[in-house]
Amino acid sequence: MSRVIQIAKQLKELELEVNQLKKELINIQKICEHEFQKNDYIQVCTKCHYIESLYW
Ligand SMILES: [Zn+2]
Repeated sequence: MSRVIQIAKQLKELELEVNQLKKELINIQKICEHEFQKNDYIQVCTKCHYIESLYW
């Protein structure tokens, strides 16, 4: 197997894993009772790292 094919295959696998992890994170953030820490432009939940913009 050439290196290029190997890389392409690995990228595909990592993409799937990233998507899976994103979904998992979104699910966690959905049920989180956020505790926000604010700065000038955004607030970030200290528990699940959910980010909300305060700057419109
Ligand atoms: Zn949260």
